[in-house]
Amino acid sequence: MHLSEDNALNLLDGRALESELPVWTSHLEDCTDCHEQLNFWREMLVNLNRSHLESAPEPLIRNAHAIFQAGRARLPKLREMRQVLASLIFDSFTQPALAGARGTSSAGSARQLVLRAEEFDIHLRIWGSAEQRRITGQVLPRGESSFVGGANLHLMRDGERCGSASVDNFGEFEFPFVPEGTLNLQVDLPHLTIVGALILT
Ligand SMILES: [Zn+2]
Repeated sequence: MHLSEDNALNLLDGRALESELPVWTSHLEDCTDCHEQLNFWREMLVNLNRSHLESAPEPLIRNAHAIFQAGRARLPKLREMRQVLASLIFDSFTQPALAGARGTSSAGSARQLVLRAEEFDIHLRIWGSAEQRRITGQVLPRGESSFVGGANLHLMRDGERCGSASVDNFGEFEFPFVPEGTLNLQVDLPHLTIVGALILT
């Protein structure tokens, strides 16, 4: 028997039955899929605990769940195409002083976010408000002077794509029409998919 999401979450938050632990422990040593699934949920929980986005854990989990399931169906070999969750490391809404120090006053009313996953930073500027909102941004490999060779980006809401974009030669991209709500930004790099949560109100 493979690990279900309930099993994984129970194991991670200590609610699993003690009698089940030896079974799962030995299964996880042999089964890559279940190992990946457990890692996925562990990162998800860490991400949720760490983020400033306390208002929306439920929809976040639903979104991530939908993406994860879609990813599993499309890509049977998870090891070849890894998916990681981005952490929100900067948000000018919650760090206005730092935003000023970074010289964002010239950026008008744009909200700036930086998402980070592994060796990539994703810089986002969110312009406008509910009726007319767009996002511009850049995918930057950290510690390298080069730009990303190519990436496709998708905005996801409730597991459905609601916008797509590609990076240019400088790693820059734009979503001209952005709906409100709890969105996930999915960045498809050649061997890595990064997913980051965006709460837009
Ligand atoms: Zn398994």
